[in-house]
Parts: sequence; structure tokens; C-alpha cells
Amino acid sequence: MAKFCIFCGCPPIDKNKEHVVPHWLIKATGNPNRKAWFGFVFSAQEQTKDREFAFDQFTFPACEKCNDKYSALESKVQKIFTTILDEGKINSTEATYMLDWFDKVRVGLWLGFNQLDKNLYEVEPNFHIERRIGQYDRILIIEKTDYKEKRLGFAGVNTPAFAYTPSAFSLSVNQYCFTNISYNFLFARRIGFPYPDKLEMIPDRNELQCNIMPARCRVMNPLIQRHIKEVGTVIYQPMFPQGLMSEKSSEYNNQYVKEKSIDFESGIGRIFLHCEDEKPYWIDDDEEFFLTPKTIQHGHQQHIKAAINISEWQNWLNNDNFSVDQLDSESRKFVRSRQNMAKKINNILIDHHQNLLKKYGYSQ
Ligand SMILES: [Zn+2]
Repeated sequence: MAKFCIFCGCPPIDKNKEHVVPHWLIKATGNPNRKAWFGFVFSAQEQTKDREFAFDQFTFPACEKCNDKYSALESKVQKIFTTILDEGKINSTEATYMLDWFDKVRVGLWLGFNQLDKNLYEVEPNFHIERRIGQYDRILIIEKTDYKEKRLGFAGVNTPAFAYTPSAFSLSVNQYCFTNISYNFLFARRIGFPYPDKLEMIPDRNELQCNIMPARCRVMNPLIQRHIKEVGTVIYQPMFPQGLMSEKSSEYNNQYVKEKSIDFESGIGRIFLHCEDEKPYWIDDDEEFFLTPKTIQHGHQQHIKAAINISEWQNWLNNDNFSVDQLDSESRKFVRSRQNMAKKINNILIDHHQNLLKKYGYSQ
């Protein structure tokens, strides 16, 4: 497989290594040399076996320049993470860095598992980290558990659904679990921003196209039309840099969008915060807020539930979110069969974890 820089996607210049899971996070969650489980090794020649190696060895090629550029984000986020784990307050700028970092880690894990799995799902990575940071509407859900031991783990990252669309995963850090979802116009319409009439897949390119409709300029709660099963604090951030669009839409040039932006020119929306049973609201630019959830969940139960929840998010994102009408019948079949296969595997995982909940006597 061709070696490319995990950030820019080009052959790496002055090659060095980027830790997909940063070293500071590995250190904050236990012995940095400990072995971790990275799913299974599937092979036609050999039996399926566990894939285990030290977190510290989970590295991928990067240009020195690209790596330096993102190390500034890492050091900022390290501090923000410490504040969150210590249950302190953060502001919108810090929340934006956090969400950028989750984009970075999510795409990094996607590229990382694609290499580890030797491209098992036959996906040619058509974007790298740089092109995906801060591009789409994003959500971060923070849950708290009663875990006493330190831990670091992720869920949802080595499923075919994630290989096809790396839009949802969760990351467990000590007592906390973070669920991150990012997708094209994920809640644009319901948060009152311009939104697409219909997303359509265009022939010969693995890309979506749409017409942008005028903003409705008001929030419709809930922002997501599915029951969010995670129990904790939810932050939403609308994003509209339109860096991946063929042309910019004039619909964004609107008073409401300007008022609800941290940085209108860069297309960065304000943070919309929802704390459990409280009324959700827009965060002011100079406001500080807590992300600590009120509810503390049973650690082991939450751990099993997290695996179910992430599979359900992926299935939901996978569910006819775009039209394939423009494709020829063969490509249509291909796209649909991939979606069905991804859903089938996720349903197996959901069943398995629901059985575990039953086995341990936890409520569903
Ligand atoms: Zn590079």
C-alpha cells in the first residue's frame, strides 16, 4: 500500500511519525507501554486473531511540517481535556478546539484502521485529516461513569459502516465517554441555518451534491430527529466553511447566521449546549460553561451500552441520508449493497451487546 502523510495525503516530506492516539492521552490513561486491543486481524490465509500492540506503536507516516502544524492543537487540547476531567469550565473557543481535535482523531483512526486492515473494505481514502477538520456540523456527547480504574478505548471504529463513512465513534477516557458525530448538514435545518433540499450522490465521484435552501432562522428542538440514548451533556456546533463545496452559497449571508457564528468568515458556528433535563441554549462568545454531566452511570453498563449506541448512530447516518437516483443501476446496487452489509454487521454487534446487558442483569 502506498505510504501517504496522514494529514495531507501526499507522500510524506521529511517523514516522521504521528501518533493517531496522542502520547499525552496514552500517558493520562495508564502505562504508556501497555498493550491494547485493536480489533481482529482478518485474513484469508490464517485464522482470525486478536490484534494487540502498544498504543504507543499506533503511529502513521506524516510530513514533519504537517506534524508540527497540528502539534499546537494537541497541546491546547491536552490542557482542555485536563480541565474537563477535573470538572472545570471551558469556553466556546476551547470547545471548538476540542471538536477540531475529535475530527482529527476520528479521521486519523479511519485512515489508521484502513492501513491496519490492509484496506479490507476496499475504500480508497479520498480525504485526509487536513480536509476534514471543521468541515461539517458536529456533535459531542459527554457521559460520566463511576469507573475507578484509568482507561482508554474507542468504539465504532473498525466496522464497515465506519470504513465507508467515518462519521461517528466514541472514545472512553478514564471516567468519561465521549461520543462524536459529524456529518454534512447534520442539524443545519433544525438549528436554523441554510440546509440542503436533497443530498444526491454524483456519478463517478464518491461525493454528494445539493441545492441550498434559505435558513429558517430559528431553532427547532430537538436538533436531531432520533432519541439520543446517551445520558450526559451534548454540544452542537454548526459549521459552514464550505471548503468541500464546488461553489459557496449566498444563503449564508444572513443576519441570523452571522449572530449565531463565532467566526462568520471561517464558517464556525456558535456552540449550542444541552445539559440533560435543562433547556438547551446558545453559548455566548465570552461565556464559560461546564460539560460535566449530572448523571453518573454504572461504568460497565455504560461501556456495553456505548457499543450499542455507536452502532445505532452509524445505522441512522447510513439510512437513506442521500439519494442515488443519479447513479446508473449498477452503481446504485453497489452503494445499496455496501449500506446493507454495513447495517447487517452493526445489527450483529447490537444483538451481541444487548445479550451482554441481559447476561449481567443490566437494564436495556
Ligand atoms: Zn503532509
